[in-house]
Amino acid sequence: MEQRIERTVEKYKMLEGTRKLGIAVSGGKDSTTLLHVMKKIADKKGIEIFGINIDLGIDQGKSYSSKSTEIAVKNFEMLNVNYRIVNIAKEYGFTIDEAKENIHRPVCSTCGLSKRYVMNWIALEEGIDTIATGHNVNDNAQFISMGYLTGDVENLSRLRNVAPAENGLVKKIKPLFLTYEKETLTYALIKRIPFIIDSCPNTFRVGGRTQDAVRRNLEEMEDKIPGYMLNLVENFERKIRPALEEKYLKKEEVSKCKICGMPTSKGRDICSFCAIRIKMKKIKSVT
Ligand code: SF4
Ligand code: ZN
Repeated sequence: MEQRIERTVEKYKMLEGTRKLGIAVSGGKDSTTLLHVMKKIADKKGIEIFGINIDLGIDQGKSYSSKSTEIAVKNFEMLNVNYRIVNIAKEYGFTIDEAKENIHRPVCSTCGLSKRYVMNWIALEEGIDTIATGHNVNDNAQFISMGYLTGDVENLSRLRNVAPAENGLVKKIKPLFLTYEKETLTYALIKRIPFIIDSCPNTFRVGGRTQDAVRRNLEEMEDKIPGYMLNLVENFERKIRPALEEKYLKKEEVSKCKICGMPTSKGRDICSFCAIRIKMKKIKSVT
């Protein structure tokens, strides 16, 4: 599995030009496995690894975020890598639990955009040029199937496993995009990697019943036709995405957020993250 991930990294030139690689670790089996495998690959190439964990303040009686941060730190220290924990309550004055109660927007959408924002911000602060995330075959197969189902060609054209640095955003890579979920689980168990077993208490909100059914259906197809998800993802990457990219991937122009200076869509004065902070009454709006 390590060799296969290394081959994927090479084939898709994921670490070309990388000097400092940030690994986003939530504490789950995928991100902790990613950290351990990428540490080996990066060491061979003389690339520095930097661990990132975001304490999102998701508790709901399960202490999910504090457990996840504890496990991430355990892994960073095991491997002796430098790391940074960003506690969004301390840094920005609100938790995802509070945002869920106070903002009329799906909690996963608020959480996702907060994570992307914080990740880019850490990358700028720490001089990280590439960020790796733990998306696996199952995640990609689900996203592709949902895209086919809804005909969302623009979203599909953005499903890149190597997203180059552009518009003030750091380069992002997904080294596990051809690795199955059951493989990362097996790897983590065999290697005795500490990981958090609980899922986020909001998981069921990620996409509701349709996404859940699509995921289960993909697993059933995989049982009937071994390699089903891998074929779906590989063929999409090799044959379909390039065609979609050519036709639908828009070169987005960006503006600078008037509050934090981070990039935001053209025509907007403030970025979506600052808009959330305004709604949470943590900062004042600008006129
Ligand atoms: Fe955030 Fe939703 Fe993922 Fe939980 S399930 S970590 S709320 S995106
Ligand atoms: Zn902003």
